Amino acid sequence: MTDRKPSRTPKTVLPLRGLPRSLSIALLLLAGCAGQPAAQDAPGGLAEADTLVFGGLLFDGGEGEGRIADVAIRGERIVDVGPGLRARYRAAREIDATGMVVSPGFIDSHTHPDTYLRSDDPAQRRILPWLYQGVTTIFIGIDGFGKPDIAADRARLEAQGIGTNVAAYVGLGPVRTQVLGQDARAPDAQELQTMRGLVAKAMCEGALGLSTGLFYAPQSFARTDEVVALAREAALRGGVYDSHQRDESSYTIGLMGSVEEALEIGKRAGLPVHFAHIKALGADVHGQSGDVIARIERARAEGQQVTADQYPWLASSTSLGAALLPRWAVDGGRAAMFERLADPATAQRIRDEMRDNLKRRGGADSILMTGTGWPWSALTLQRYADREGIDAIEAALRIISEGGTGPTGSAQRIASFNMRRDDVDNFMRQPWVMTASDGGDGHPRQYATFPEKYATFVRNDHVIDLAAFIHRSSGLTASTFGLEDRGYLRKGQFADVLVFDPDTYAPKADYVHPHVLSEGVVHLFVNGTPMIVDGHATDALPGKVLQHRPPAGACP
Ligand SMILES: [Zn+2]
Repeated sequence: MTDRKPSRTPKTVLPLRGLPRSLSIALLLLAGCAGQPAAQDAPGGLAEADTLVFGGLLFDGGEGEGRIADVAIRGERIVDVGPGLRARYRAAREIDATGMVVSPGFIDSHTHPDTYLRSDDPAQRRILPWLYQGVTTIFIGIDGFGKPDIAADRARLEAQGIGTNVAAYVGLGPVRTQVLGQDARAPDAQELQTMRGLVAKAMCEGALGLSTGLFYAPQSFARTDEVVALAREAALRGGVYDSHQRDESSYTIGLMGSVEEALEIGKRAGLPVHFAHIKALGADVHGQSGDVIARIERARAEGQQVTADQYPWLASSTSLGAALLPRWAVDGGRAAMFERLADPATAQRIRDEMRDNLKRRGGADSILMTGTGWPWSALTLQRYADREGIDAIEAALRIISEGGTGPTGSAQRIASFNMRRDDVDNFMRQPWVMTASDGGDGHPRQYATFPEKYATFVRNDHVIDLAAFIHRSSGLTASTFGLEDRGYLRKGQFADVLVFDPDTYAPKADYVHPHVLSEGVVHLFVNGTPMIVDGHATDALPGKVLQHRPPAGACP
């Protein structure tokens, strides 16, 4: 496992995790008394800090250019930023960042780290794939997958400890499933009321907003009106609408129709719209990035708050079933799907539509099977079909029915090469498009999104410059989602601080070896605690679960 780099815990990291909880809290309170984030005088007229990062090229997370400046950290906060701090501070830990870039820790607004967050192993809960990219805060519950039990999840994560900060959405999927199961129908008035109540409760427990993945069944069965009604509950409590669109391609309502739907939901429900992993997927819509951008620019000019995030890869990642099966075929769930496949006429209709969907995605050569431990692992769908002497649709049905336990089982995990570079560049240049990994198993984006964007799109191809890359990976994201005291290197902010080497910061993962840690992050602090020291992860778990605060009076 490339996850395991030699780990080194510096003496200066207080191992609070090993202590009884009551004692840990007492210690934290003590530290709080002694460690207010105000500079204190030490003998000789120097102010005291825990850490001083000096001499680096500092980008503060805003839109401005970098400058040579220092950062002083005390406790969890930044106490000073500016040139010449060595003359004014005495720090227990001094880091010479000469030749390095110093920036806010990156914020990843779209992630699937479930296996890490649910692990009983504290080493896993550090969430190393993200730390080694310089990411200090991740958003979960995206694509409409977030459970409404926001407070319970927060309590569990805080009790167990995590490496990065986490913020969570409530998702349409679990809310709908809890009330309607997997059925393709609209809720009645009472059912809709129950669903609204679940969203409202989650928002009051601190969810960022409502997330949907209308592409995925059973969320795909929700009509626009249903989503508007639920999004309004998020709007009333200051949330945002995060959208994995109903169609990023030409499956149903088309890319432009789907952009229109998301904007309509934001407008009618009265909340900001955020497009997740914006893209033009498949040959039918290649070249449409300009139209999407123009439509979003028009909405913004009309006063709507609209943003997006994007990963810098030409292949997306999803499950084979989600990519190829028509949604009517999975109405009622997996068992119902097998019943339909048992009927020859219905099965033929399913096969025909799968063939269209495969063509949409560029054919069986464009689909790489990335789940591990299966007969088809690391083969394209075409190569697996050839090896078995069957056609690609039969091969796909075999994988869908044999592998995994659900329509998104890991046996079905694919990298689907379906984006064109000019569309990717075009979206990336927009000042409202931020960086997000969409990282999950079986795609290098989980381990390498931020370094890939830097190495390929900033350093090599100059699609955007370094200041824009950092701003759209930190400050812009924090401001868009209202993260208090994060995303910028400024006095009083939480000390999420990244030091990376601009010459070596690079991805090491690729599509065939997606699970390799990135390189070039030299130091990383989460809430003032060192998580990476001289390129090696510590054992600390200083992450916090961030809580969105609804406006006064919006919650009981
Ligand atoms: Zn998604």
